[in-house]
Amino acid sequence: MTGFPLDPADLELLRKRLAAPTPPELVQWRKSGEGRYKNGQSQSRYLAYIDSRFVTERLHAVVPLHWSLRLEKLPDGADRDGVVEKNYLARITVLGQTYESVGSDATDKGADSDAVKRAGVRIGIAADLYEYEENWVPLGVDPAENYQRILAEKESGRSGETAPGLRAAVGEPLPSPGSSAPATPAAAAPAKRKGKFAPMPCPICKGPMWDNTENKYPGQPDYVCKNRVVCPGKYNLTDEERAISKAEDPEKARAEIAAGKPAQLVDQQDDLPF
Ligand SMILES: [Zn+2]
Repeated sequence: MTGFPLDPADLELLRKRLAAPTPPELVQWRKSGEGRYKNGQSQSRYLAYIDSRFVTERLHAVVPLHWSLRLEKLPDGADRDGVVEKNYLARITVLGQTYESVGSDATDKGADSDAVKRAGVRIGIAADLYEYEENWVPLGVDPAENYQRILAEKESGRSGETAPGLRAAVGEPLPSPGSSAPATPAAAAPAKRKGKFAPMPCPICKGPMWDNTENKYPGQPDYVCKNRVVCPGKYNLTDEERAISKAEDPEKARAEIAAGKPAQLVDQQDDLPF
């Protein structure tokens, strides 16, 4: 690589380096939703995430001086309970293209780093995290160690069935400028899933949303943006809306609720034992 403008082969190489798997030692884990009791153990589900600095550090490592980040504060939103959500738009320009995404959080700092991470995923940075296996962690066990065990079990038990990109997610060094190591292809394709669409568009991007009411974990939103990798759009049904959507006869349920029947009589998915 001699300089800019780049020829297509150099451009492709840089794209691959930006999207190279996230080094496991930089992956952090946080608890998500409620726990479960399985195989005689209390287990919590953990989700992998990165610090937003990982995005800027990788840009700096792969394309030093040839990228820029702009953050723009958007109007505040509010969730179902009236809790204010801060919104930020992040715009990352790299290799002649601009990638933008919105982030939301209760705090300004949380919202802007969320936006940076989501914009980074559009470039392929840390996109491999979205292909991770579910990590149910027994009480007292380190989530990172547990995840390595899950990968090792998968590797030994059912090698060949391992999702593409999964093996590469472990042990790959962060690419450095001028490194001659072969770049690993981006594992950016989101996991395929079957699902049904929600009867309303995403409140943020106006695109389709998944209806997760049947299979969500406790505490997760009912509808989430289909484009959730880059858009934080979500919607929680009110008790009335949930009752109507679950009723065998939605019109009858709507009429009953309008007549004053309490919606709480309907079973809630959230009320799982444990
Ligand atoms: Zn959306």
